[in-house]
Amino acid sequence: MNDNIRPVSSYLSKSLYIRGRQCHKSLWLHKHSPELKDEVSESQDALFATGFAVGDLAQELFPGGVEVPYDGLSHDEQVERTRTLMAERTATIYEATFLHDAIFVKADILHHGPRGWELYEVKASTGVKDYHIYDAALQLHVLRGAGIEPVRVSIIHVNNSYVRSGELDLRQLFTIEDITVQVKELQPLVPQEIIAQRAMLVGDMPAIGIGPHCDDPYECDFSGHCWRNIPEDSVFDLRGRGADRFALYREGIVRQADIPLDMLNDAQRIQVESTLLERDSIDREGVKEFLDSINYPLCFLDFETFMEPIPSFDGIRPYQQVPFQFSLHIQHEPGGEVEHHGFLGEPGSDPRAELLKMLLRLIPGASCIIAWNQSFEIRVLDGLAEMFPAHRDRIEQMIANFCDLMVPFRNRTIYLWRTKGSYSIKEVLPAFVPELTYDGLEIADGGAAMDAWHIMNSANDSVELARVRTALWEYCKLDTLAMVRILEKMGTL
Ligand code: SF4
Repeated sequence: MNDNIRPVSSYLSKSLYIRGRQCHKSLWLHKHSPELKDEVSESQDALFATGFAVGDLAQELFPGGVEVPYDGLSHDEQVERTRTLMAERTATIYEATFLHDAIFVKADILHHGPRGWELYEVKASTGVKDYHIYDAALQLHVLRGAGIEPVRVSIIHVNNSYVRSGELDLRQLFTIEDITVQVKELQPLVPQEIIAQRAMLVGDMPAIGIGPHCDDPYECDFSGHCWRNIPEDSVFDLRGRGADRFALYREGIVRQADIPLDMLNDAQRIQVESTLLERDSIDREGVKEFLDSINYPLCFLDFETFMEPIPSFDGIRPYQQVPFQFSLHIQHEPGGEVEHHGFLGEPGSDPRAELLKMLLRLIPGASCIIAWNQSFEIRVLDGLAEMFPAHRDRIEQMIANFCDLMVPFRNRTIYLWRTKGSYSIKEVLPAFVPELTYDGLEIADGGAAMDAWHIMNSANDSVELARVRTALWEYCKLDTLAMVRILEKMGTL
């Protein structure tokens, strides 16, 4: 053992065990060098908040339970509190806590059913994933070690085919999947993995290289550290199907400049050659064909949406993309004036009826609707047609007239070397129309727009509300103005 390594405790928890299952090096770094972790992003914070909200609501499936809090109690006190509640024959315990062999677990819901204790793990996902089963298997191992044999182990997850109608129906919103057989089958492997993790932790840092495991099942929070030596324009910037990036990396090919071109398909070859020569690649015939397929009037449309695991309004499924804003630039004839319209919902209310009314009023019949990644806008319109069937015919007519401005960039009809293989409008715009940029905007992507909507819904301060509204207007308007300018520029090629 390396003398420089600090002694580490053999303490494990559910999250540490799952971290170790993903990558031993990640667990080693967490214990020995936590200062190397990446900062927690706002989107990760939002994910944690979502998880807590779902967990709290799922408790209502078993009302009247008693919670064992984490804050304010030591681990031993939480274990003792759980033991007391069980001895008092408490029917349901939230966050029931167990410690065995220096492994600490908190079970989301422990319920005493007709046959004995039932263990429920709550997940905000819409199905059971492999790592949920490993997580529950560790809990079963610890509970057994503490002398409890649950009669049933289940995952409670969100049912994304539930459509809210009136009061939330928790029995429909959640699905309870019995995974008792799977977690029992995994039991022999759990102590083996615990022993392996503990043995690894007292040794040198494991020599594990980067790989697909770095973001499966979670994006590892040591990525910034482990990936720090990957240079710009590496094989990992290659986009699309074709050469396997990790296979190239394992062969020692890291820079795009070192890839033998015959290993690449046509699209990847265009990317690599353009990158190396710092030169755009433009298929003018392809551009002309695309432009010829467009008929005026043109409506450049972009939606901003929110989604929630627990639907706030009727007619919404969990995680459905619900529009709260649109921006629309309309151009009636080639080279003509471009007019702008938009809609932004009022916080606390269902924005869909007003939004659709305005959209139907503004979009002339038979216009060509231009979007960037049209499948998103079409999915949103499909959701509106489902909610407002009286307008289905008109909405379907709109959907039939979509044109996706992203396609010529995705299929490399136009390849801009500065985009590094990305065909996101956020990358294409500054590379193609440098005078327009998203830089400096308070809201610069759809995720931030969604967060802004949630902020608007909880803001009590009118100044704060006005600031967020302005930021949303600026961002969404730029998305459609960007499309106007990109199409104009394509006409000059
Ligand atoms: S970034 Fe990858 S290799 Fe590094 S610790 Fe995380 S999972 Fe392991």
